[in-house]
Amino acid sequence: MSVVLVVNSGSSSFKYRLIDMFAERVLAHGLVERIGEKVGVATHTVVAHAEAGEPAPTVADVTQQLTRAIPDHTTGFAVMLEAFAAHGPSFDEHRPDAVGHRVVHGGARFFRATIVDDAVEESIDDLSLLAPLHNPGALEGIRAARAAFADVDHVAVFDTAFHQTMPPEAYTYALDREVARRHRIRRYGFHGTSHKYVSEQAAAHLGRPLETVRQIVFHLGNGASVTAIDGGRSVETSMGFTPLEGLVMGTRTGDVDPAILLHLQRTAGYDTDDLDDLLNRRSGLVGLAGANDMRDLVARAEADDQAAQLAIDVYVHRIRAYAGAYLAQLGGADVISFTAGVGENAALIRERALDRLGFLGVRIDHDRNRSVPRGEIAQISSDDSDIVVLVVPTDEEVEIARQTLHAATFRRAE
Ligand code: AMP
Repeated sequence: MSVVLVVNSGSSSFKYRLIDMFAERVLAHGLVERIGEKVGVATHTVVAHAEAGEPAPTVADVTQQLTRAIPDHTTGFAVMLEAFAAHGPSFDEHRPDAVGHRVVHGGARFFRATIVDDAVEESIDDLSLLAPLHNPGALEGIRAARAAFADVDHVAVFDTAFHQTMPPEAYTYALDREVARRHRIRRYGFHGTSHKYVSEQAAAHLGRPLETVRQIVFHLGNGASVTAIDGGRSVETSMGFTPLEGLVMGTRTGDVDPAILLHLQRTAGYDTDDLDDLLNRRSGLVGLAGANDMRDLVARAEADDQAAQLAIDVYVHRIRAYAGAYLAQLGGADVISFTAGVGENAALIRERALDRLGFLGVRIDHDRNRSVPRGEIAQISSDDSDIVVLVVPTDEEVEIARQTLHAATFRRAE
């Protein structure tokens, strides 16, 4: 078995990647979007690869785009299959042996990638209560994909699963126990696929068994979270009951005093939708400086824009606080990694985030930090730093494909 199709479905779109698992090589990827609107758009890219023995691809990637009404995910899958048939790669040669699906919320039920059957579909549906914006779309994609690829295993890979190893003291909120139990309120954590992938890459880079490494991973993208990982197990993470808690994000607040919500309800007439919009879409970097792209904010801050400077100060201040807290929870760390859009690209954020950890022997090499090769794993700490600091490009699709292959192979062996 060697080819996996990875599907990441939202409510009105899905992304896919066909991966040859032998070399973890992407054969094709695409995006079907505006599902349910008047005109849908399907984009399919066939990835060029070098012929054996040649150093670089001899042909360029080929991208095709098609517009037509795509009323639902089932039609979206039919459009995707047409794109494969018309432009390749051919399913005769590269038929998926399994399909992996990203599912945001697995609740407390799913602690690893799981073969999808009707009961699993039902559980994902039930968990839509906890992730109303995410799980319904994933379920649509799973149903359409199971119909389109009826004879292969479908595997659900949950963003929350990696964090199921957290101890009760880390996942329990100090809320009334009965209220918490009845409404399944606890910390679940998200971005687990990325944290798992990056922590494995980091341990491999150090040349040490994962089981022996204490690490902190900062996933700083549009959404942002940090995880403390002890011997490959998540022991603490900053996102909680939903992906709103924790670090400052592109448009989300991260941590705030919950009494602010009560105050806005009581004195300014905010209802649930107003609060949802404020916390999830009008806050974070956008709320502080009107933009969520860290490139723009860094440029504006350098040009003395005070709103951009404050936004970056708040962003970094929060990261620092979590770095200190997680170092304390772990009792020290061997490696700290940065990943995702901001973590992989924003040298200024990385160096400011760790600039006060010198007392613990964290020493950033500024030349290394400023010249990280794009898309490569790189050490940015100096050789005499007690804690190694790395930039590690994340790849959630490859991790989903790995877990899918593992679950499907395991099942066949049963
Ligand atoms: P992600 O969610 O991982 O795709 O990250 C997206 C975010 O990464 C964007 O909103 C930007 O803020 C940030 N980003 C991407 N490229 C850069 C860059 N070269 N410098 C700073 N930030 C960047």
